[in-house]
Amino acid sequence: MNITIIKAKSLKEKPDPKALGFGKHFTDYMFEMDYFDGKGWINPTIKPYEPLELHPSSLILHYGQAVFEGLKAYKSQEGKTLLFRPEQNFERLNISSDRMCIPEINVNDAMDAMYKLLEIENDWIPTFEGTSLYIRPFIFANENALGVSTSAHFKFMIILTPVGAYYSEGFSPVKIYVEQKYVRAVPGGVGMAKTAGNYAASIKAQYEAKKKGYSQVLWLDGCEHKYVEEVGTMNVFFKVNGEVITPELNGSILSGITRNSVIQLLKSEGYKVTERRIELKEIFDAADKGELDEVFGTGTAAVISPVGELATDDKKITISDGKVGKLSQWLYNELTDIQNGIKPDKFGWVKTL
Ligand SMILES: *Cc1c(COP(=O)(O)O)cnc(C)c1O
Repeated sequence: MNITIIKAKSLKEKPDPKALGFGKHFTDYMFEMDYFDGKGWINPTIKPYEPLELHPSSLILHYGQAVFEGLKAYKSQEGKTLLFRPEQNFERLNISSDRMCIPEINVNDAMDAMYKLLEIENDWIPTFEGTSLYIRPFIFANENALGVSTSAHFKFMIILTPVGAYYSEGFSPVKIYVEQKYVRAVPGGVGMAKTAGNYAASIKAQYEAKKKGYSQVLWLDGCEHKYVEEVGTMNVFFKVNGEVITPELNGSILSGITRNSVIQLLKSEGYKVTERRIELKEIFDAADKGELDEVFGTGTAAVISPVGELATDDKKITISDGKVGKLSQWLYNELTDIQNGIKPDKFGWVKTL
């Protein structure tokens, strides 16, 4: 793929690496390419990060036909750029696109575009402990029309944002509210796709849980409101009686790359890991019997997020005495050490640029 590069007239000042936050600062350049029916993906371009020009009728603004990904680039101690299983993100982007009737991209071309962008923006990859450069590839419908049907024009873009340490005040457990009124996804719906509307649909529940003092919601299944699905933008794991269990990929759960990596890591350490349907009651019962050892979420942003409390409106359980569980801590250290190039990468997960 031949990428056109348009130079920026001037470069921005880099933000303070100790106060990055998440998704607040954007780098100097972005990648963009367009799809037109009959032409396919054309005009791959790296150009200065700038606002887009869209028609008010652009389909994305009305019907939400859009998919996205999220991954991180880390700087190793030797100054190399490291990516964690990046091909998985682009393959998943195509899976999401297929569900949303968005044309597929060539995974190798998209990865080459990302590598080129990272090469140009090398100085933007923060080196301060816990920081990384978050990569956001996304595709949206951009036809200038108002009918509800698939678009004849799409845009694929990659933008970059340096992000701070997720646990700036130390690795610590979160309180989770079990959502029993709103649902995130239903069988046959789009829960397995990383598509815009899933997040729009989750904001109200998240907002209400925050007001009650919780940091995220635990979603239950959309039919019976009985089975555990996932947490906010993380998959969820439970350690019960020494066994690790996580909801199976049932079509309404996002297939997390961190989830898959955690399963492989645990199995390689001899843990019994089971992917199956999990009833909320089973978890609360296990807690009552003293058999619920740990609960944690997994996702690119936090990597591992230990859960210290799970609550519904009428029941509350404290997990691992509200402290970080041993397994959560071990998984966090192991994964972040592999991602940062500190520990050997025995699974072949890390791509070095
Ligand atoms: C992105 C995401 C995850 C986590 O996926 P990773 O590949 O581990 O980052 C889990 N659930 C939802 C709903 C997500 O959007």
